[in-house]
Amino acid sequence: MNQDHDAVGRWRPSPLLYASAALHVSAGAAALATPQVWPWALGAVAANHIALAAAGLWPRSRLLGPNWTRLPASNGTAAAVAITIDDGPEPEVTPQVLAQLAAHRACATFFCVGERVLRYPDLAQEIVRRGHTIENHSQSHRHNFSLLGPGAIHAEVSQAQDSIQRVTGNVPKFFRAPAGLRNPFLDPVLLRLKLRLASWTRRGFDTVNCNPDAVLRRLTTSLHAGDILLLHDGHAARGRGGKPVILDVLPRLLDTLNGAGLVPVTLRSTLP
Ligand SMILES: [Zn+2]
Repeated sequence: MNQDHDAVGRWRPSPLLYASAALHVSAGAAALATPQVWPWALGAVAANHIALAAAGLWPRSRLLGPNWTRLPASNGTAAAVAITIDDGPEPEVTPQVLAQLAAHRACATFFCVGERVLRYPDLAQEIVRRGHTIENHSQSHRHNFSLLGPGAIHAEVSQAQDSIQRVTGNVPKFFRAPAGLRNPFLDPVLLRLKLRLASWTRRGFDTVNCNPDAVLRRLTTSLHAGDILLLHDGHAARGRGGKPVILDVLPRLLDTLNGAGLVPVTLRSTLP
């Protein structure tokens, strides 16, 4: 499965985008040549816009461009699984997450928000110092990210890239859209900034579900090598006694992985 653009870094529109462009041209030509067909042409174009929007609202879709939903098969570790932790750094949660990972000698990928990296630079540096990686989760995690135009999308992605590099010295290689939602303007921006889009194989919905058992079950049902799992240190739902759900889930998840002979790795370590 080819998960990336070609090696020389040219942007190649996905088949859906090619088909959409062709549809717009042919619908316009048909409506000009035969005025009676214009309602049908208009309807076809409207349906196509709905299809494009739907593709962008489906986080694991590859219809708008390459998207990692699993680790590449040739990832170097047959038993590898990637734990990804989004929306931090968060001073009330991230230090405990780091301690839990250290207790299990496990590493993870943190998709951090650029503004939060600037606000908590010591915490961002500590994440990297402990052998984890920080990747790009946009500068301000705007909830309307999938509605932004090309300029605003470029600003959100490139500013986070600069923030993370300035604070940690490392340049992110992966991007994850806020809530996984995007639109056709994102893919060319990622290519220009040499970023790969990463979503996930399974997520625990741990920003809304405050039951750690249910979150763990979601993450570990049909667990396999190559899975990319999603948890949150920022925006974490709170369980019993106000405890962030990730803190109840992560140690049990790490035990489960260990028991299944699976090894947590960073996304970056699996790049070819
Ligand atoms: Zn997020």
